[in-house]
Amino acid sequence: MEFEKGGVWRNWVGNQYCVPQFRASPSSEAELSEAVAQAAAQSLPVRVAGSGHSFTPVVGTSGLLLSLENLAGIRSVDKAARQVTVAAGTRINAVGKALKAEGLSLVNQGDIDSQAVAGAFTTGTHGTGLKLGNLASSIAGMRIVTADGSVMVIDGSDPDLLHAAQVSIGTLGAISELTLNVTDSYNLHERLWRDDFETCMERHDELAAQHRHFGFFWCPVPESRHLYCLADTSDAPWSTTRKDADICEMKVMDITDAPPMTSAFETIAYSSDVYPIEYVPNFVELEYAVPLEHGKDSIRAVRELMLTRHTNCIYPIEYRFTAGDPAWLSPFHRQDSITLSVSGGPGIDYWAFLRDTDAILRRYGARPHWGKMHFLDRDDVTALYPRADDFRKLRRDLDPQGRFLNDHLRPLVG
Ligand SMILES: Cc1cc2nc3c(=O)[nH]c(=O)nc-3n(C[C@H](O)[C@H](O)[C@H](O)COP(=O)(O)OP(=O)(O)OC[C@H]3O[C@@H](n4cnc5c(N)ncnc54)[C@H](O)[C@@H]3O)c2cc1C
Repeated sequence: MEFEKGGVWRNWVGNQYCVPQFRASPSSEAELSEAVAQAAAQSLPVRVAGSGHSFTPVVGTSGLLLSLENLAGIRSVDKAARQVTVAAGTRINAVGKALKAEGLSLVNQGDIDSQAVAGAFTTGTHGTGLKLGNLASSIAGMRIVTADGSVMVIDGSDPDLLHAAQVSIGTLGAISELTLNVTDSYNLHERLWRDDFETCMERHDELAAQHRHFGFFWCPVPESRHLYCLADTSDAPWSTTRKDADICEMKVMDITDAPPMTSAFETIAYSSDVYPIEYVPNFVELEYAVPLEHGKDSIRAVRELMLTRHTNCIYPIEYRFTAGDPAWLSPFHRQDSITLSVSGGPGIDYWAFLRDTDAILRRYGARPHWGKMHFLDRDDVTALYPRADDFRKLRRDLDPQGRFLNDHLRPLVG
């Protein structure tokens, strides 16, 4: 197939860019295989871009950059098996719409739904819910175009292969298709309110246990919530919400049969219509998964850091829950966790803040989100992920030349 000249690629937030030699946008798996085989013949490295919503250099290449925007759409829905098969470039919001029409729902979603399915699911993207795994844990199968252009089919019959591929950050090959386990359609009842930090800590275990989803944002200064467009819930009639509270958005969501309704602070609607919130690209985020038992200590420590040493860092902390899963490189590998994220704002030097946050969270054995800022080196990956060497071996077997690696990923999983 014809490669185009590469030009400049940049990610959504604008903190990563690359200048690939070539680009291509295949519209079928056969074209994707042809492109990868052609790159192999020219000894070009290859990467696939999803929607570019990662903050880390997980996409960039100097060789061939593939976009799968033309390899998108629902391939099939199996209502009885509760599975949907989608082309890898399909956006999450398109999957939600298709499932709604079929009386099905995704099991869980994160804060936005504009990512490509392959990009979001295989970096370990998560929502919130103590008993809910990350999105990758719902991957039942995949088709991957490997380094020589051949197609590897993963269908779960080899659980190790599935668990290796579920979180693989584009390093096993170019995913052309994914089969996802889904669930019967459900409506969510979402409630938002504000409270103070100590009340939130007191209710932490109870709210996490009693609701399908619970999460919150802590804001160091009143204007913090504007940076993430968090709702002003101080007028919510039904809760103890307070204008001066520093937990600016406490959120619970539960499955309900109640009819649709929306107010500023309460929504009942189809699942995929409730999950996403609006963000503007003005921050650089670091997010680590901390073992559940250290959740409260870790947020206390990072909060103290923000109140005493980095008072110019005023983006909210986002705090969520995710259940453990077996994927080899999942940040939640066999570990129920909370996730804690902080963000650097534009126009300030936030590196010292991110490094200090990393130093605190390391003390708790935290594992970073692959798509958000982190400071892992090869030894850290080996120490944090018991199956890291198995993953590296599999990757080398599939791609001995490291065609699907880049300078960021080679030291970590090469
Ligand atoms: C505003 C915002 C909100 C976010 N909210 C959340 C959230 O709530 N929860 C959370 O966990 N994360 C969240 N993230 C992070 C985001 O979900 C991840 O970084 C995700 O990977 C981005 O998906 P993408 O399609 O943009 O992938 P990209 O960033 O484009 O790519 C991610 C990785 O996937 C690879 N890839 C993409 N497509 C393929 C393919 N077809 N085959 C092989 N490899 C492929 C890429 O090479 C790259 O390594 C958020 C990010 C932003 C900017």
